[in-house]
Amino acid sequence: MRGDEAENPGWRLVKALRGLMAAAVDAVYPPVCPGCGRMAGQHRGVCPACWATLRLIERPYCEVLGVPFAHDLGVGILSADAIANPPVFERLRSVAIHDGIARSLVHGLKYRDRTDLAIMMAAWMVRASDGHVQSCDAVVPVPLHAFRLWGRRFNQSAELARAIARLSGKPYLATALIRTKRTERQVGLGVQAREDNVRGAFAVTGAGKAAVFGKCIVLVDDVYTTGATVAAATRALKKAGALDVTVLTFARAMSGLI
Ligand SMILES: [Zn+2]
Repeated sequence: MRGDEAENPGWRLVKALRGLMAAAVDAVYPPVCPGCGRMAGQHRGVCPACWATLRLIERPYCEVLGVPFAHDLGVGILSADAIANPPVFERLRSVAIHDGIARSLVHGLKYRDRTDLAIMMAAWMVRASDGHVQSCDAVVPVPLHAFRLWGRRFNQSAELARAIARLSGKPYLATALIRTKRTERQVGLGVQAREDNVRGAFAVTGAGKAAVFGKCIVLVDDVYTTGATVAAATRALKKAGALDVTVLTFARAMSGLI
């Protein structure tokens, strides 16, 4: 019987098509946990063990810097840091502390070409934006310099921003903000060196000015560390007339803050 099936061209075609379809589904929606690679209960889901390592940033937090508070001090309370050093952007929101599964997801998106992760991460970012994606006029990624983009093939912030725009139906401004200076990698640099490195590194293009002038912008990056990069990018957006900038990142480095 098996032999007959193997000889039947129709059966072979069905088997081949079935195999192709399964491969296609797995390629688009791998049924494995993006954190550890083990089988997950549902497509694009995270397994319970990895979920346990996710430290979501939720209220109570500083309304400006999004820093979690240990105790609920009331509505609209700002952190001491936000009062002493008000940022150039209006507010910062992030999904989770840059640790555990959050770090794995960021790493996966950046270095393993897992663009499928961007869709799941973007959905979490829309939720973490606390309504600011829904109320914005446009979504803008922190751009990479063209040289680095060429080396890495794609910009992880752009992948996240594009997915956020698609999920929310907001305009995606892929090229409004550009990096005009080839900067050193921020990793390993101190706070002051990071600021010096990215100072004046961004500009809004002529066409971009019309798109951001007087608008509420959501500026997307994968990780917030010292904030030097998003501050420099926000300065360029504000110089072009942006009214309000919400910085939205997936993860946030929080060494010693909580
Ligand atoms: Zn897992």
